[in-house]
Amino acid sequence: MSRRILFATGNEGKMREVRMILADLKLPVLSMKEAGIDPDIEENGNSFEENALIKARAVAGCTGPGDIVLADDSGLEIDYLNGEPGIYSARYMGEDTSYRIKNANLIERLSGVPKEQRTARFVCAIAAVLPGGGNEAAQEFVVRGTVEGYIGWEERGTNGFGYDPIFYVDEYGCSTAELDSETKNRISHRGNALRLCKERLRELM
Ligand code: IMP
Repeated sequence: MSRRILFATGNEGKMREVRMILADLKLPVLSMKEAGIDPDIEENGNSFEENALIKARAVAGCTGPGDIVLADDSGLEIDYLNGEPGIYSARYMGEDTSYRIKNANLIERLSGVPKEQRTARFVCAIAAVLPGGGNEAAQEFVVRGTVEGYIGWEERGTNGFGYDPIFYVDEYGCSTAELDSETKNRISHRGNALRLCKERLRELM
């Protein structure tokens, strides 16, 4: 049985990052599209971890018995807003609302708030479902990666996507939309979660 890793996303940008970081596991890494599956998944969990696991289990239910399935769920937590937009990051102000509007709204909600109270983080949970052997049940685990920063006073930069133009990191003194993709992958929540995930997979494979 040939082993493959299936990553539950349709986002090509994510797939590039995933393939780069998992390359040394030396297994083929496929997107759902490449694997020819498209399950209808309702992300109704209460945490990033629950949502990632819901996605991974749903995809594992549609794939071949030898496949390792990975799924992620990510978002932005702003401390001053009690963790908003959090697990609702993609849906904040409506799925079809532009990030220009979402980002301007968040900056507005933080108007007059000093830097030390503007702390925020990107969070990424990655869930894995590994096939069981013989009579053994499938194995599962979830890891979490984060990157700490703060919400700036204006949008800056054109790299990245989503909330990147308003999320600033002290180490570089700029927004994550101003970092090149290699630097962002090295410090990012998704990069950190993927590296943790890779270590766990190595132990279990
Ligand atoms: P999902 O995990 O692909 O559903 O992403 C959730 C949402 O979180 C995205 O639509 C973005 O709004 C936000 N998000 C997650 N990761 C990043 C990032 O690296 N930069 C900017 N926004 C992000």
